[in-house]
Amino acid sequence: FTDNSQPIEIKKNMCTHCSVGCSVIAEVQNGVWVGQEPAYGSPINRGTHCAKGASVRELVHGDRRIKYPMKKVGGEWQRISWDQALDEIAEKMGEIRENSGADSVYLLGSAKFSNEGAYLFRKFAAFWGTNNVDHQARICHSTTVAGVANTWGYGAQTNSYNDIRNAKTVIFMGSNAAEAHPVSMQHILEGKETQNANVIVLDPRFTRTAAHATEYVRFRPGTDIAIINGMLWHIFENGWEDTEYLAQRVYGMDQVREVVKDYTPDVVENISGIDGDTLKRVAETFAKERPSTFIWCMGGTQHTVGTANVRAYNILLLATGNVGHEGTGANIFRGHCNVQGATDFGLDVGNLPCYYGLGEGAWRHWSRVWDVPYDYFIDRFDAVPAKGGRDARTAEQNMGIPGITSTRWFDAVTIDTEEIDQRDNIKAMVVFGHGGNTVPRMQDARRGMDALDLLVVADPHPTTFAALHSRTDNTYLLPICTQFECAGSRTSSNRSIQWGEKVVDPIFESDNDYAVIHALSERLGFAEEMFKPYEMVQGKFGMEPTPESILREINRGSWSIGYTGQSPERLKAHMANQEHFDLITLRAKPDAPEEIQGDYYGLPWPCWGTAEFRHPGSHILYNTNLPVKEGGGAFRPRFGLERDGETLLAEGSWPVGSEIEDGYPQFTMGMLKELGWDSDLTAEELAVIEQIGEGDEERIDAVSWSLDLSGGIQRVAIEHGCVPYGNGKAR
Ligand code: SF4
Repeated sequence: FTDNSQPIEIKKNMCTHCSVGCSVIAEVQNGVWVGQEPAYGSPINRGTHCAKGASVRELVHGDRRIKYPMKKVGGEWQRISWDQALDEIAEKMGEIRENSGADSVYLLGSAKFSNEGAYLFRKFAAFWGTNNVDHQARICHSTTVAGVANTWGYGAQTNSYNDIRNAKTVIFMGSNAAEAHPVSMQHILEGKETQNANVIVLDPRFTRTAAHATEYVRFRPGTDIAIINGMLWHIFENGWEDTEYLAQRVYGMDQVREVVKDYTPDVVENISGIDGDTLKRVAETFAKERPSTFIWCMGGTQHTVGTANVRAYNILLLATGNVGHEGTGANIFRGHCNVQGATDFGLDVGNLPCYYGLGEGAWRHWSRVWDVPYDYFIDRFDAVPAKGGRDARTAEQNMGIPGITSTRWFDAVTIDTEEIDQRDNIKAMVVFGHGGNTVPRMQDARRGMDALDLLVVADPHPTTFAALHSRTDNTYLLPICTQFECAGSRTSSNRSIQWGEKVVDPIFESDNDYAVIHALSERLGFAEEMFKPYEMVQGKFGMEPTPESILREINRGSWSIGYTGQSPERLKAHMANQEHFDLITLRAKPDAPEEIQGDYYGLPWPCWGTAEFRHPGSHILYNTNLPVKEGGGAFRPRFGLERDGETLLAEGSWPVGSEIEDGYPQFTMGMLKELGWDSDLTAEELAVIEQIGEGDEERIDAVSWSLDLSGGIQRVAIEHGCVPYGNGKAR
């Protein structure tokens, strides 16, 4: 109960239940969250919530919170202190490390982390010495990231929820947004009303989204690729493709034409159940009534061929010229509010933060950002002995090898060590914020949990990982506070980043991720090195880093995808001035306060900012409103560089003298000078490059070069024939 005579404070955070990113206004009295409203000024939700969003206060004040640290003793949960829990966990982890190696601890993170929490957890894995770190995207949209990134570069949604209202034709395939992303439907339905848009829903089930469709098409589950190839068959057969767009911007469509020749209407009907006339009508509408956009969700991705499904959707968009401008694009509806951010920050067995991969260049880059020697990590990682017919690996080589995915960790607990690509079995699992509900093969996962030497579940609520096992000891529950009890940023599907304020102090004995990761690192002996760059403050139980200082470190290191301009100050100014952004374009209105002028809401990445070089964020990726020569998007599988008609690099080749890290071609300042390109740069552009490069030895990711929409580096790249397209990863 609270004293009603006390003033009410207003705090802003965001709903956690899906990736739309609806803002929540919390009314706080006497430190208690007493009331909740949707944010009326937010350009994302415009004063609306769905039923899920309306209940987020319950996450904090609901009666199912874990109240204090607990430990299983003889099969019973017992209350213990934080100190006892962390001391015992650290001691056990140390023993496991000693006997079995660092890879024997599996680190399962979460899209419930803030960006700063996700980044810190990935950094914790690096300092502990393993790439065994993953999160929920493994089983939801990791196939999207792989499919989109390998088609045109960035593993993310190209447009935004708001922009969908500009589409004349919308296809949903594998998405039931009316239930999973309800607030997004206001944009789509407004488009349907104001633009008379076609809303086509392809789904095996007649969903609530299908109830809003102008055309509903039922199909056999798992036949997406045949359907898309069938649509392309009709498009090519009738000449409905965008020939000018293809000629100017897209490489490789001829091979697609060859493949889809086999997908005649009869063949496709036989596979999918969709008759030829219906599919022809859908294909014609999508190709001719433009701009058209394609929306997908986990109905498309959760397949053994999920990445190929995603590639097929993207190819359809390219064939019809529907990428890179308003009302078009791949609108990819993700799950939790921060699946995009947790993926961006490397909660993934194959990446360091911001998709740098695991190559030596990536480790050297992050060593510099983290201000520790590269060799530090060689000391932390295991060497892997020869076994099962494989060669032995040094610790340095092991640093470059992806860890075990979250869909297979339980196999690595019990399988014969001859078959494991690491020194020993997995012996311990530390789970932050990840429920087990969605884990495939749950019975195997339960057996895996039972066989572990140590299980730690850190969460605001008791999850299936806390409950679905028969363990009797060496099992710990740590009470973590919700996102409403600490500050931090989150990245919605449209790449916009929003700063969430702390609404109330952590309740019961719960504490935030930053503090708990710090306390554990302290006991494991690497906190001093890992937390050196941060501003530390006194927290509830000990010192903790501020999320602002973690974000500043992210800003310094994230040149690969452009998280450099989203400083805490700019993000806070956006949240405080939501009503000054346009509801459709997401751009600050002309009379907006100075600190947000020119910006897109949430500074959607890439946002190449520095103190001197302010970037507005990128509302729509790959601007194809512009010709390629003026910086417009183009989509090719590899790099091809020409200057004055002379081929400097053939497509599919790599820059001479560059290092190839994980298939990434890397530029250096030295190479740019050698090519004579540096002489054309303006002082402002050079300042940016120097900030990226800091001299010859620092590699510059080609993505940063080729896709910068700020006009500076982009201009130089285009003038020299460096065309923006895929990230150069060869998969
Ligand atoms: Fe929350 Fe998504 Fe509903 Fe918005 S649409 S209130 S973000 S669940």
